[in-house]
Amino acid sequence: MKIPSLPEIERQSLRKWNDKRSAVVFTTEQVWDLVKDQLDIFPHQKFYVAEATKPTMDHFVNQAEGEVVYGIGGGLAIDTAKYVAAHLKKSLFAVPTVLSTDAFLTDATGVRINGCVRYLASKSPDLVLVDIDLLCRAPIVMRTNGAADVLSIATGMWDWQYAQDTGKNPSNQMIESHAVEIGNAILKNLIKNAKEIGNGTAAGMKVLFDLLCLEVQLCYLCGHSRLEEGSEHHFVYSLENFLNEHALHGDLVGLGILLMSALQDQEWQPYQTTLEQLRINYRPPGVTEKMIINTLVGLSAYVKEHQLPHTIAADRNITTDLAISTIEEVLG
Ligand SMILES: [Zn+2]
Repeated sequence: MKIPSLPEIERQSLRKWNDKRSAVVFTTEQVWDLVKDQLDIFPHQKFYVAEATKPTMDHFVNQAEGEVVYGIGGGLAIDTAKYVAAHLKKSLFAVPTVLSTDAFLTDATGVRINGCVRYLASKSPDLVLVDIDLLCRAPIVMRTNGAADVLSIATGMWDWQYAQDTGKNPSNQMIESHAVEIGNAILKNLIKNAKEIGNGTAAGMKVLFDLLCLEVQLCYLCGHSRLEEGSEHHFVYSLENFLNEHALHGDLVGLGILLMSALQDQEWQPYQTTLEQLRINYRPPGVTEKMIINTLVGLSAYVKEHQLPHTIAADRNITTDLAISTIEEVLG
C-alpha cells in the first residue's frame, strides 16, 4: 500500500520568490491583481478559472503551454492547476492566497459529475508557497472557510462510527481507535482556537494551516476521508443541485454540520458557536429554506443513487415536518 504524503511547503513572503521559467498560471482576476506585484514569475499564459468541471479542465490541458504550472488563489484555481500539471507532466507550484480549502495539500481534483462531486487523480504540488501575512489579509468572508472542512470531523467521524456500529463499513474502512483519537484532538484544537482563527491573526492562520495539514495527513494514513467527509458533505453535494448561484464550500459545509449534527442527535450548539467565532457564514446567501427542505427530504435517496459511504443520511427518514423542525432548531 502506497501512502501519499504532504507536499513540500515553503513558508515565506511571496516577495522572496522568483522563477525565470515560462509559467502557465491558473488564478482569478481578483487574486492576480493582488499578487502580481509581489510574485516574480513569468506568466507566459494566464487563465482565470470559474468552474470545476472536467470539460473545462480538459480544455485547459489542450491550451496550456509552458515549462511550469502555477495555481494561485483558492481551491478552484489550485485544483485546476493540479489537474493540468498532472496531465502535462509539468512541475506544479501552489500559492494559496486564502485558506478556503485544503486543495493545495492534496493529490486529487474535485469535479462535479452528474450532480455529485467526484475526485479525479491529479497530483500534489511540487512546492506550496505559503505567505501567512497574505492569508491574514484575505477577504473575511472566505478567510477561514477551510476550517469548515476541519469542523466536519464532528459529523464525519460520528457517521464513520455509526457505519461501524451498524456493520456497514467496508473491510478497508474499519474504524481505528487511534485515528479517531487523533481526529478528535484536531477537532478539539480547532474549537479551542476558533476565536483566534476568526480574528485572522498570524497565530490563528498558522493554527488553521497546521490543522489542515494534520487532517490531510491523517486521511492519507487511513486511506480514505471518512473522518472528515460524512453526511454534512453529502448534504452539500445534493444541495448544490438546487442552487442558482455559487456559494462558498465552507459556508455550505457549516450549514451541513449544524443540520446533520442535530439529526444525529448530537449537541450541535458548540459547533454553531465555533462557526460564529470562525466567522463562517452558515446562512449562505442564495440558499433558501425551500432548497434546504428539498435537500433533506431527498437526501436518503440521493446518497443511495450516488453510492456514497454509509452515514445517518442513508437511514434517517427525514420527512418534511422533521426537515422544517430541524431547520427551525438550528437556524431559528
Ligand atoms: Zn469539504
